[in-house]
Amino acid sequence: MVYLNGNFIAKKNASISVMDRGFLFGDGVYEVIPTYQGKLFRLSAHLKRLQNSLDAIKIPNPYTNSEWQKILNQLLGYSQSENQSLYLQITRGVGTQRKHSFDTLTPTVYIELNPLVTKTKHALEKGFSVITQADIRWSQCDIKATSLLANVLYSQNAKDNQVEEIILHRNNVVTEGATSNVFMIKAGTLFTHPTGKYILSGITRDLVLESALACKLPIDESAFTVDALLNADEVWISSSTREIMPITQIDKQVINQGEVGRYWACVYHHYQQLKND
Ligand code: PLP
Repeated sequence: MVYLNGNFIAKKNASISVMDRGFLFGDGVYEVIPTYQGKLFRLSAHLKRLQNSLDAIKIPNPYTNSEWQKILNQLLGYSQSENQSLYLQITRGVGTQRKHSFDTLTPTVYIELNPLVTKTKHALEKGFSVITQADIRWSQCDIKATSLLANVLYSQNAKDNQVEEIILHRNNVVTEGATSNVFMIKAGTLFTHPTGKYILSGITRDLVLESALACKLPIDESAFTVDALLNADEVWISSSTREIMPITQIDKQVINQGEVGRYWACVYHHYQQLKND
């Protein structure tokens, strides 16, 4: 079951016009919201970021927060699975001809659910490999836009190289992952790129910082270089579907002697507790 423009329908019956600007231009924004035990996790933070993305590209929000909550919970009610990832997309709507500029249109709203499969304990204890690549994206990465061509190519490269993620850098400064935020520990401090136009302000990033405080881990939201990353004591990536993953290999170079770090263990543990709130 999916939601499309006011209707709960079978996915195979869901269709949109070829004149939809999401199809023609990638003219839209999205959110991915995890659900645990049938409950939406950090919904208000996701709805706030959705509003920021909509405002940034001048699409009116079709629903109030309580309307969103009702629709999302109604869709969840059609599913039996406990842990899911909810994908929500709003495009500018359907125009009459293909032109780049836009008139006021009725936004298209599409929502679907997918199983949320977190990594096994065994995989987490082993850690994950990543590779680095130059960040060729535009400089409004704070908008969660559906036009994701660069990210698509990065993720395919990760797949081709059998690594978990691509870590991006602008002029040698680490920004974020293709679909995640990046953290490193150096000399007992947690570093991550500051929010702003070069990264997506991850909801999980905020929870990592909240968990770091609980672990009494000092935080420094300052950018760092690829070289610093390769020499870090611990490296992690975070996202709503990945949670917090320890990285033990970058560009075939081993991090922390290939061991998952103790700070990761504390922050990860705290994050798991937040899920039960
Ligand atoms: N950065 C990028 C480019 C992303 O695509 C994502 C998630 O998909 C994130 C960061 C992490 O955001 P969140 O923690 O809200 O899932």
